[in-house]
Amino acid sequence: MIDVATGVAGPNEAAWGRAVDLLCAAKTVVLACHIGPDGDALGSMLSLGLALERLGTDVVCSWGSETLVLPATYAGLLPGQHLLRPPAEVPQVPDCLVALDTASLDRLGLLAPLTGTAKETLVIDHHATNTHFGTFELVDPSSAATAVLVAELIQRLGVTLDAELAVGLYVGITTDTGSFRFSATTPDVHRLAAQLLATGIRHDEIARAIYDTHDFGYVKLLGEALSRASLERDAVGGRGLVWTYTTADEMTGHGLRMDQIEGIIDGVRVTAQAEVAVLLKGDLDGTYKVSTRSKGAIDMSLICGQFHGGGHRFAAGFTAHGSVDETMAQLRAALSAAVPLSG
Ligand code: 5GP
Ligand code: MN
Repeated sequence: MIDVATGVAGPNEAAWGRAVDLLCAAKTVVLACHIGPDGDALGSMLSLGLALERLGTDVVCSWGSETLVLPATYAGLLPGQHLLRPPAEVPQVPDCLVALDTASLDRLGLLAPLTGTAKETLVIDHHATNTHFGTFELVDPSSAATAVLVAELIQRLGVTLDAELAVGLYVGITTDTGSFRFSATTPDVHRLAAQLLATGIRHDEIARAIYDTHDFGYVKLLGEALSRASLERDAVGGRGLVWTYTTADEMTGHGLRMDQIEGIIDGVRVTAQAEVAVLLKGDLDGTYKVSTRSKGAIDMSLICGQFHGGGHRFAAGFTAHGSVDETMAQLRAALSAAVPLSG
């Protein structure tokens, strides 16, 4: 049965109740987040994992890559890492699979087939492009982070939000709101953040680790990427486009992995003359992982959807198989045809 109880208002009481009943009844649970996991994916997953562990559930956490290498930032921060298992070691017929922060089946990578063998699949997500692939779901595109939904679920499960659980949730919220700057940062988000801080977590240490700590190789690569950034004032119907790229050789030359260069887009998107910012990151498999951002006039999830990607309205991405020039030519065309959002 597909239980789609979503909309602008988010999950209704019945959907929350069904999710709680499902998790309370499940003896074995696999939690999975999207491949190339970010702070919200990992923080949400590990916090829910710890909460279920306290309830006595047999729970493991994973994502669909052959080996799980936690981004260094999060490896030093997040409680619950003892729950992590590579896909080959997760139960194949769990009572419940919970997909967190995962907009579509392909983003589960190697764990996608588990949706066919798990007795139920609960999807907890806030992406506008969610494809509703579960049998149950808590999906709210207006939610600032998946961690916001998980915080509510944990409390509805009757588990106390203490410091151990609060770290992952705070990490998810701060990363997905760009440190409480993006438009989805509502009074309720601040109230939840206050509740998390009241558990005694060190938000200053979390912020320094996430935003203000980088390998020296990152500093050099950021410089190279910024020095060759292009500003196209006439693009995006005259609203302006700024873009740049990094290559796989540069990344490895500086001793970096993909998860360590996520922040480069933030250096590019500050450009005052550009509504849209684009960063193409060359990956080891020969593709480019494309990060896109807009300031509010262009729905980037629709643009990236045209390239088999997705995300949020103002922050979205896709994988490009062509060259930098080919990809930029296609993106320019899509952006010039985009209908600006009103209001
Ligand atoms: P980032 O540019 O930071 O990698 O990603 C921005 C947003 O777009 C995130 O919410 C991320 O999940 C989403 N996103 C990035 N790449 C892809 C992709 O290839 N497919 C989908 N569906 N979403 C993506
Ligand atoms: Mn998220």
